[in-house]
Amino acid sequence: MAELRYNQLFREWVLYVPERSSSKKPHDTGRVSSSDSVSCPFDSNLFLKEQGVIDAYPSLERWTAVITPDKYGGMSRATPLKTLSSEYFFKTMNGYGIHDVVVFSDHHKRISQYDAEELFHIMEMLKKRIVSVDADASISSYALIQRCGFRASASLSHPHMHLIFSPIIPGELSSLLSTCYTYFQEEKETLLEGYIRKEIAYGDRVIFQDSHAVSLVQYAGLFPADIIVAPQKAYAHMHRTPEIVMRSMARALIQTLALLDRAFDAPDYGLHLYSAPLQDGGLYPYMHWFFRITPRFFIQGPSESGIPIVSLLPEVAASRMRTAL
Ligand SMILES: [Zn+2]
Repeated sequence: MAELRYNQLFREWVLYVPERSSSKKPHDTGRVSSSDSVSCPFDSNLFLKEQGVIDAYPSLERWTAVITPDKYGGMSRATPLKTLSSEYFFKTMNGYGIHDVVVFSDHHKRISQYDAEELFHIMEMLKKRIVSVDADASISSYALIQRCGFRASASLSHPHMHLIFSPIIPGELSSLLSTCYTYFQEEKETLLEGYIRKEIAYGDRVIFQDSHAVSLVQYAGLFPADIIVAPQKAYAHMHRTPEIVMRSMARALIQTLALLDRAFDAPDYGLHLYSAPLQDGGLYPYMHWFFRITPRFFIQGPSESGIPIVSLLPEVAASRMRTAL
């Protein structure tokens, strides 16, 4: 049975899934390959019957995107959330949670190739799913992730999207929240509002801008062309963001990924959503949700010094992307 253990030293929850080592994912061959010979569990529509459908867009009969439970996710809601140990160094909970996969009918279509209206509706479907899970008092946060390509640690050469709900706040989000909280207390605006305003004033790292959304290569990105796509105004949660802003976000995401594809020959990348935790009446005035795109031009391990080393200046990356129009 899966369990969550807390690491006090690194302040991080870890999900242990012992059954995974005995029954490997069918497509997890454990080796890195650039071919697409590895079969995808969603190649045939059988998974719709076997795993069930949570939602489909535009309809179950002619779907282009469906949300389905991930059989291999490890977390489950089969038993209620339970503290198995509350000792300081040995905090443990059962692996309570939800792991959904968003499967696209065209497995090889990149987000950059989607029509903005279609992507907007797919994002609205995800919002609806998040709102429905928000009613579960044992769920604290959600993550939306797409890993595109082996260099971004994907197990398949083409990406599906994962929507994961868990009873904890992951370490990275937790540290982001405390940074944003401190900034908000001092400046009375969100850190991203302040940062985005400055970036727009400088302009040299901005890639996309309309009246509601912006995308930019981060001033000190941890990866080459480490990109943020965000609403200009602060909303704590993606699932509570007005439609007009979501339409802009869909356009910003497509346009940014299309420029990345053209400027850098369709690189591997990771797409991550950073949105405020659920519950607490959604009271996170200091949080400002955003997508982060981390292109992976090569397999990047940690540097010897522990300091990330990046070979491409953010201004150069942004300029290359803007001129790829
Ligand atoms: Zn597939």
